[in-house]
Amino acid sequence: MAYDNDNIFAKILRGEIPCDKIYENDHALAFRDINPQADIHVLVIPKGAYTNMTDFAAQASDAEMAGFVRAVGETAKAVGVTDDGYRILANNGAHAKQEVPHLHIHIFGGQPLGRMIKPPEN
Ligand code: 5GP
Repeated sequence: MAYDNDNIFAKILRGEIPCDKIYENDHALAFRDINPQADIHVLVIPKGAYTNMTDFAAQASDAEMAGFVRAVGETAKAVGVTDDGYRILANNGAHAKQEVPHLHIHIFGGQPLGRMIKPPEN
């Protein structure tokens, strides 16, 4: 899928739309989700134009990958979820209902999150 330069996160990166910034480095930006699904819900995005994790894993430089992963860890620390724990999630494509076609990792925390997938019933 070709990258859409008009997606909402591209506009945030260009400063055309405001965000509640938590953390930034050379290769990544983290900000609060506009519609939080947990007490703490933050998004971490690469600054490069990558549609999803498949695209990022194939095309990003080692420096971009390191910067992005470090941003996830630093953002979790910045919002104070590392002691009690948190969940990270990245929706990729149609089956995962990815809404914004720019790679983003969700960080959820600040409350018990339950199991991500229910165990099978006997
Ligand atoms: P997805 O379903 O693509 O994994 O998640 C997209 C996320 O982006 C959603 O959780 C949604 O609330 C968030 N989002 C959509 N538009 C904006 C926006 O303009 N600002 C911020 N901060 N978050 C947004």
